[in-house]
Amino acid sequence: MIRINENFNKLKASYLFVDIARRVEKFKEENPSAKIIKMGIGDVTRALPEACIKAMHAAVDELASEESFKGYGPEQGYAFLREAIATNDFKSRGCNISADEIFVSDGAKCDTGNIQEIFAQDITVAVPDPVYPVYVDTNVMAGRTGLNVDGRYENLVYLEANEANGFIPEIPATTNIDLIYLCFPNNPTGATATKEQLTKWVEFAKANKALILFDAAYVAFIRDNEIPHSIYEIEGADEVAIEFRSFSKTAGFTGTRCAYTVVPKKCIAYTKSGEAQSVHPLWNRRHSTKFNGVSYPIQKAAEAVYSPEGKAQVKELIDFYLENAKIIRESMSSLGYKCTGGDNSPYIWVQTNSDSWEFFDTLLNKAAVVTTPGAGFGNCGQGYIRISAFNSRENVIEAMERIKKALNK
Ligand SMILES: *Cc1c(COP(=O)(O)O)cnc(C)c1O
Repeated sequence: MIRINENFNKLKASYLFVDIARRVEKFKEENPSAKIIKMGIGDVTRALPEACIKAMHAAVDELASEESFKGYGPEQGYAFLREAIATNDFKSRGCNISADEIFVSDGAKCDTGNIQEIFAQDITVAVPDPVYPVYVDTNVMAGRTGLNVDGRYENLVYLEANEANGFIPEIPATTNIDLIYLCFPNNPTGATATKEQLTKWVEFAKANKALILFDAAYVAFIRDNEIPHSIYEIEGADEVAIEFRSFSKTAGFTGTRCAYTVVPKKCIAYTKSGEAQSVHPLWNRRHSTKFNGVSYPIQKAAEAVYSPEGKAQVKELIDFYLENAKIIRESMSSLGYKCTGGDNSPYIWVQTNSDSWEFFDTLLNKAAVVTTPGAGFGNCGQGYIRISAFNSRENVIEAMERIKKALNK
């Protein structure tokens, strides 16, 4: 008898986007002429940088003749891209990360979801609340949690991000944590962590023989040079942290697909008997067994992000979204709503002073603007909405004018 992995039955269906779609449909039926503006989108809206397009075209042409044709590439990624990443994203900020510690992949979603496979079944996992759901659901599927009770899975430790701690989870009182997921700049709150705050997490990991999984998918939005761009800017982090990055939000690769994971050779985990073991060979084995590499034209396009033209174009791209974010943040603040994010992040986390869904409905019904209710990201998201800066300038300005009219009666 073929049997299922019953851990999947524990997964709480995410009604968030289904529920949003249902409410938007109902609004459309009742207001057929309304022009809806979607400010809830977690996807980029602008075209790929010119440098990436050129590199991709040239790479496709290489595949057109037998002399320069490429079949399977290295599973870990081509050296040209891994070298460019190590030099530009790490060495340039004083982080001693080398090309062979970088694993190129087709997405940070897959990487943050797959990484847990190399760790033991009976470890204790800590996740932020509110959270990017991938971290939680992949551990549920793997059987590391109990059932979902009142919005939280049993056996998971929830690291609360709220107004009181400035949306940076505090170091937990319990030392019984083995794997810690952190994400900065954060999705959904837009919060960024200082060097001091990250240092505390690295020290906690060291003291407790734990490991940090650091998701830096939004690093390109950091404009304040004092904010760490990488966990490896913290001394000793290469022994206790794995970092995830993506070209998705950096250079508009959400549909193109390219990302990477950094596993330093010094990074350590332990056997049951307490013997230290490097994590790098484990991930190398996992990655090369189950993955056959990102396509050559896409890796060439990603490499172009680091060319002088690519850098300038990516900066222009991100500056555009950051200007949107500033407009949103200033508008919502001027209406008296407390906001986080939106300066070194494309997301603005707005305190609604009411139920998330109630506020969502008000913006939909009175302004025809769609946002994302914070409650959909975890219990600590109740009382917030997330507004995204991924949109056209026109839409952002019009959405903010409509919201002003709707709320500032
Ligand atoms: C968008 C996003 C990613 C990137 O995912 P890709 O699979 O690389 O497109 C990773 N982490 C977070 C928190 C994100 O919001």
